Amino acid sequence: MPDATPFHLGPKAAEIISLDKAVISPAYTRDYPFVMHKGEGAWVWDPDGNRFLDFCAGIAVNSTGHSHPKVVAAICDQAKRFLHMSGTDFYYDVMAQLAERLAASAPGPSPKKVSFGNSGAEAIEAALKLARHSTGRPYIIAFHRAFHGRTYGAMSVTASKSIQKSRFSPQLPGVVHAHYPYAYRDLFRQPNAYATADACLDYIRSHVLKHLVPANEVAAFLVEPVQGEGGYVVPPASFLMGLQTLAKEIGALVIADEVQAGIGRTGKLWASDWFHSAGDANSSAPRVPFEPDMIASAKGLASGLPLGALIAKADVMTWPPGTHASTFGGNPLACAAALATLDLLDESLTHNSLMMGKRLMQQLTALRKQSPVLAQVRGLGLMIGLEIVHDKQSRMPAPALRNQIVQRCFERGLLILGCGESSIRLSPPLTINEAEVDQAVAILSEAMAFVGQA
Ligand code: PLP
Repeated sequence: MPDATPFHLGPKAAEIISLDKAVISPAYTRDYPFVMHKGEGAWVWDPDGNRFLDFCAGIAVNSTGHSHPKVVAAICDQAKRFLHMSGTDFYYDVMAQLAERLAASAPGPSPKKVSFGNSGAEAIEAALKLARHSTGRPYIIAFHRAFHGRTYGAMSVTASKSIQKSRFSPQLPGVVHAHYPYAYRDLFRQPNAYATADACLDYIRSHVLKHLVPANEVAAFLVEPVQGEGGYVVPPASFLMGLQTLAKEIGALVIADEVQAGIGRTGKLWASDWFHSAGDANSSAPRVPFEPDMIASAKGLASGLPLGALIAKADVMTWPPGTHASTFGGNPLACAAALATLDLLDESLTHNSLMMGKRLMQQLTALRKQSPVLAQVRGLGLMIGLEIVHDKQSRMPAPALRNQIVQRCFERGLLILGCGESSIRLSPPLTINEAEVDQAVAILSEAMAFVGQA
């Protein structure tokens, strides 16, 4: 059951917040006053000793939980050998070993190569540059509600919240946004997800490629296999497979942004692994997998150390020496942490993500039936979105209500974050157990009932 004692901001946390307010950029968004002091597994403590169950994991980063002993040991061992040697100019084992693991794990049979950076936005920058370099074409087709990062290229392909672009234009030219099949809310919403996906694909063929950009000038489609910041939205496989087919037809590439959805979060190593063609019941032909030409990864990859990776088909990643690199990209500590993270995922955590995700989904689906404000529960593995509404009939978004639920959960000891216009995202560490799932749902349920009465 939820803890009956509500949270009160302690003096040590208050002091850090006051210092932070004086010296930290005001552009950061803080929804509630949680001050991190230490963490273990899915639990975090503030400096005054208040304990919270962490269902956001540093925005889907602490994939192996806070300070997993095997990850910490890998970082310490590496730190004793060397901290940095710039993989752009020299060779070292952990960077090559990690690239080998990532290349082998990426979906589809084509050989892959890897370029390292330090963040999700950098992985996206690398993808945009490689798409143009490899195809010699200028245009990128991205999607409404997508978030890809805050550097200039990544910001330009983002279409999440207008504040993220406010007073920063002109942006990167050659970017067009199409519709993502968000069957609950998109303008192209149809009675079901498959029809919505068809409508979104049709818009690209019959509008974007006819009226906005010549098909033979499109370098790539940039798509999140499960949309993150936009609302934790899972598209039907037909959407991604349709994009793959269309890209092949027009000679463009498909870039999967798996910065948030990758690394075991959805119950498979890559979210892209969930998607393939429907197959034909009358034929023994194998189902075609969704095999992006590039995958951008970061966040959970190194369990909390900064690391970004662009994994691309070897025949796409052919840019010559000097075209793209970063001093810190593939930092040895981050690579060692990532190798330990992949070991833990393979041993048990990807499976745990699937199993705990099922348990969470079952309980939240039951909660949806009782709660007048919880309209939809969607997701894969431990990437679960909750759509909050004023009432289920009108589907009217309820951002203020959503914010109250997030706040109430914090006060009762559960850390969660919002996403999209009116949704909540659940992205706990992949280490969570049954008792932690049950406790989180109990707190969420109390918070929804509480704001529903207010
Ligand atoms: N792509 C996606 C899907 C993301 O969710 C994010 C961050 O939230 C990014 C890219 C940018 O990553 P970073 O903040 O590490 O630059």
